[in-house]
Order: sequence, then C-alpha cells, then structure tokens
Amino acid sequence: MRDLARSRERMVDVQLARRGIHDRHVLNAMGRVPREAFVEPGLEEFAYEDGPLPIGEDQTISQPYVVALMIEAAEVKPGDRVLEIGAGSGYAAAVMSQIAERVHTIERHPSLAEKARQRFGRLGYDNVELRVGDGTLGWPEAAPFDAILVAAGGPKVPDALKRQLCIGGRLVVPVGTEERQQSLVKVTRRSETEFEEEDLGSVMFVPLIGEQGWAEDGRRSATSHLPGQSRGRSLPEMIAAAAEPLPDIGDPAFGQLFDRFADRRVVLLGEASHGTAEFYQARAAITRHLIERHGFTILAVEADWPDAAAVDRYVRHRPNQAGGEPPFQRFPTWMWRNTEIAALVDWMRGHNEGIPEPDRRAGFYGLDIYNMGGSIAAVLDYLDRIDPEAAKIARERYGCLTPWQKEPSTYGRAVLSAGYRKCEQAVIEQCQELLHRRLDYAGQDGEGFLDAAQNARLIASAERYYRIMYYGGAESWNLRDTHMFETLEHLLEARGPQSKAIVWAHNSHIGDARYTDMGMMRDELNIGQLCRKRFGDDAALIGFGTHTGTVAAATDWGGDMEVKRVRPSHRDSYERLCHDAGIARFLLDPGRDEALRRRLLEPRLERFIGVIYRPETELMSHYADASLPQQFDAYVWFDETTALTPLGPEHHRPGVPDTYPFGV
Ligand code: SAH
Repeated sequence: MRDLARSRERMVDVQLARRGIHDRHVLNAMGRVPREAFVEPGLEEFAYEDGPLPIGEDQTISQPYVVALMIEAAEVKPGDRVLEIGAGSGYAAAVMSQIAERVHTIERHPSLAEKARQRFGRLGYDNVELRVGDGTLGWPEAAPFDAILVAAGGPKVPDALKRQLCIGGRLVVPVGTEERQQSLVKVTRRSETEFEEEDLGSVMFVPLIGEQGWAEDGRRSATSHLPGQSRGRSLPEMIAAAAEPLPDIGDPAFGQLFDRFADRRVVLLGEASHGTAEFYQARAAITRHLIERHGFTILAVEADWPDAAAVDRYVRHRPNQAGGEPPFQRFPTWMWRNTEIAALVDWMRGHNEGIPEPDRRAGFYGLDIYNMGGSIAAVLDYLDRIDPEAAKIARERYGCLTPWQKEPSTYGRAVLSAGYRKCEQAVIEQCQELLHRRLDYAGQDGEGFLDAAQNARLIASAERYYRIMYYGGAESWNLRDTHMFETLEHLLEARGPQSKAIVWAHNSHIGDARYTDMGMMRDELNIGQLCRKRFGDDAALIGFGTHTGTVAAATDWGGDMEVKRVRPSHRDSYERLCHDAGIARFLLDPGRDEALRRRLLEPRLERFIGVIYRPETELMSHYADASLPQQFDAYVWFDETTALTPLGPEHHRPGVPDTYPFGV
C-alpha cells in the first residue's frame, strides 16, 4: 500500500538528520536496513513511524531515533568489533552490521532470538553472531570490544561489560532506578583502570533483567525525584508572579483581559479536552466580548460544516431548512449539544437581532472536513454490517490515532486485516454518495457560502479525504488541519477584508505544531501553525489547561459519554508547574516576562485529552512533549475543572421539534 523505501528515506531525513544525527555511517546504514522486516507481520505499514513497536514477550523494537542515537554515541566505525545486549528484533544489530566488522548480540528470550536469527539469515547479514543468555555478564570469549551497546535499562553500569571494553572502547547503557526513566550513560575506557562517564540525557527503555541488572520479578527501588530547581526563584514562583488572576467568568472584566488580542485578524482559542465546562465558559465569555466590542463576525469551530450551518441559520435569523436532519446527532454529541453552547448560541441570536445589516451579524461555522462525522459514522455502520472485525479496527483507529498518542499496543490492535482492505472501495463509495447527497441538499440553501468553487474543491479532494480517513494515522491529521485552515481563509475572504475570526479547536489544532512532538518528531502541522505562517502577529494562539477535576469523555470511539476523573497532572508537566503556582485560575502571557519565557522554553510534558480519555494509560495515551511559550501566545489556566453538561431530553421545549435545543 505504501512505498516503504520512500518512508525509510523520509525517516532518515525527518527523524534522524533533522534531529541532529550527523554520523554518515549511521545515516547510511539506517537508510539501508529494511525495518519492516524486523516488525511483526501486519505492522509493516508502521515500520517507519517515530516510535517503538511491540515484538512479543512484552518487548519492543526501539524507536529508529533511539537506535541511531545509541550507535552514534558509541562511535561505531568500520573495522570495529561490537557487542549488543538485548537483540530483541535484531534491528539495531542489523544496522550495526552495516558499519562494523563484526557484531555479537545477546538476547534472553529464546523466542525473540530465534526470530532475529532467521531475519539475519534471510537478509544475508552474516557478520552478526547471536546467542541466548544473560547479557549483563557480556561475552567474555569474544572480548574485548570497541563498542558495547545495551538496549535495556539497569540500575547501574554492569561491571562485567566495562571490563570487556578495549582501551579507548565505548559502552552506552541506560541507567536509572526508576521504572520508566533512565539516563543514557556513555563510559569510555581510558586505561586498564580508568573509565570516563558522560550523561547523554534521559531515555526510556525496557528493563535489563539479569545478574547485573534487575531481578526477574522486576523489583525496583523507588527513589524520590529531585526537583531540578536552582538559580533563585523556582518556576512555579515565577509563574505565580507573572500570572494575571482571572475574575469570575460571568464578570465583564473577564473578557476585558483579552482586549490585548482584539486587534488581531484571528484569535484561536484552544482547550485541553473536549469535555471541560470551564474551557467552554471561558471561550464563550471571550467570544461574546470580541463580537460585541471588537467587531468579530466569524466564530469558526472544530465541527462539521453541515451541522454548524444549521446552527448558523438559527443565529443569523435565516430560514430553517425543511426536512434537514437535526445537527450534532452523532458521536461525540456532547461536544456541541451541551448547555454552554446552547447559551452561547442563544446569545448570538439575540445579539444579531439588534443588527439590521446582515453582513455585520456574527455567524457560526464548522471548519472540519466536510461532514467528517457523518462519513465516519457511515464507515462504521457499513463495516458493522459487512465485517465486524474490520469495524472494530476502524473504531480503534478513529479513537486512538491522535497526534499525541504514542502507545505502541494501539497499533497492534489496529493491524490492517485483509477484510479491512477489502472494504476500502465500498466504503469510499458510500462516503462519496453521502457527500453528493449532502451537497445537493446544501445547494438548495440560498445563502451560498458553499458556492460552486467550494463545491468543486470538495468533490475533487473527497476521494483522497475518505481514503486517508479510512486508514487513519498521521496523514489524515495533516490533511484535516490543512482543510480546516483553508476553510477559515475562505470564510475570511467571503466576509470581506475587514472581517475578523475567532476559532475554537483543541489545543492540538491551535497550538503551533512545530513546537510539540507533532512537528518536532513527526512532521505534522496544524491550524495554529498555518495561521502564524499566513497572518504572522495578526494571529493569537491561546491555549487552555487544567490540573485535575472531571471531564466528559468516552472510553472508545462511538462509546457513551462518561464523567471521568482527571488524574492530577504529571510531575514533569507544564500543568504541574501551573498547579504549584497556587492560583486557582489565571492568564499567563509569557511575552510579558522574558526571564520566565526563557525558563519555560525547554520542552516538558503537556496533557492532551480528546473525546476519548484513558486515565489507566494516561502517560502514554495523553501526554506529549511541547515547548509551551512557543506553542502558544498565551495560556489560560483553571486548576480544577468540571465535566460539561450535555443536553438531555428535558431541553426539548413542548410543541417544538427537536432541531437542537435552539431550533425554535
Ligand atoms: N535492539 C533491539 C531492542 C530490543 S528491546 C531492537 O532493535 O529491536 C531490549 C531487549 O533486551 C528485549 O528483547 C529484552 O528481552 C532484552 N533483554 C533484557 N535484559 C537482557 C539481558 N540481561 N540479556 C539479554 N537480553 C536482555
């Protein structure tokens, strides 16, 4: 399905070279060895993604970048004799075999060792020797080695390995007393008795189990974390000093705090989850203020165009379309059918009533790929009937392949089955049919933003949209955000050169992707980044965050909304710094405090909760690295937050058809 050789080249360029791997030997070798031959059958299409993947026995094949980093750090050169501990899939040994004279590698799991051995044979890597055993004791008969690499983390540098280095030899090994955190340590042997140690930064490896590693039962000593604070004031203290406390959301002073952004062409308001009442309330207060006082006339949200159009007809007092299906009936309904949106929409309708000129009325628009929710629902519906196994996979994909997700097991569950591939054409045809029906219907709508040009554009790209959406993954992310940005541009054009827009979308869409894992590791982009590129300082990117509380979210795609507890923020996150500042809610404008901005630049964890929240695997499923002061122009903080209230049947007004609560 995909051109894997091209993916490999791209991996070498984006994940390695651009991230600072310079050694030509390493780059060439990584460009030669087919990683797809070292992953489990069915996972080939993920072979060049930027992360580890499961290989069985609870072990993983290392992330390509980590393999390259270790080989570069160990200075593996032509002519070298190399020892590796932890052969796993055999991938790293294969890469080294392309550089060194001879590679010895040890694996403790016989089943993994057997598979690795077969791969070496098949691919003709005949300068690799593999044995099963405890690698912490090394391979004394073959010593000394020019380089030793350990692919699993132990509590200390194994002595046996140091002794098997030749003079000038390098040992690279992850060392740490905590479960998922080690420092990558490089030991260079200077003489018979002298060793030099260097710390290369923090890494995350599976445990090294053996005589000079951890015990089989995985005993670990929980040592406490040293907060790396120095140089006078702590970061939370600096945040507390710079924070501008926020008044009650209902207080007019709340909106006024955002006057500093009022002269921008586009103000983008984020959210750290799709189900937090405070984020909606705060954005509504800012939106009302910008519309009322500063002439903004576009509210563009992360929702389907056709559904938002029905709401727009209501707020701009345009005639309702007879027979249209009520908007926002599909998962995740709570995102738009909730009490906060109902109140805002009613406010917009009231505001517009007093404005006689139609083009000065504020409109409500959807930015997402045309009818994306409808298409996803149609895909699932079709697969449920034809191939329930494929439907399960599709659900996983829609729920899991978010840009911040890095849990390898979700790939495992989402392996492409033959059935899944078989359904592709039929599913795409279904989506196309749906699109045509929707567009015919929209064509009857007199107001006509969906002019001929926009229709043609949609139809031309539809097949590509649906194919990528069907398969999910990184590509669909870029396509979707590019589409959202183009729709926003189109709206600004349609409403004239003076028009100004407010955007509501998740932090992952509006925070500049170049300064998060998305851009730094995976070449993903988003609306925030595209707005900065197009509008420069005329765009304001405002992120939102919270420490703990409750959130409305589902466990799986299509599942029921649940009110879930949000775990207190991770101790290494920006959220924890804000929490430790000790102020219940505030606006942080890092542009106003250069010293603070500089100290916040270094990437840390940040939490992303979407329509799915999985607290059980929170660190893997919901945290990614980011450099917050570059990602956002400002950050709005609510220490404790509560779940949104979805609209229930009690919101139906007697005698009024249920066309969304505000359909009167
Ligand atoms: N280099 C591998 C990474 C595998 S992960 C790759 O590219 O795929 C680390 C591996 O170390 C696991 O397979 C684990 O089983 C193995 N391991 C852990 N402790 C070990 C030990 N003491 N001796 C040998 N192998 C060990």
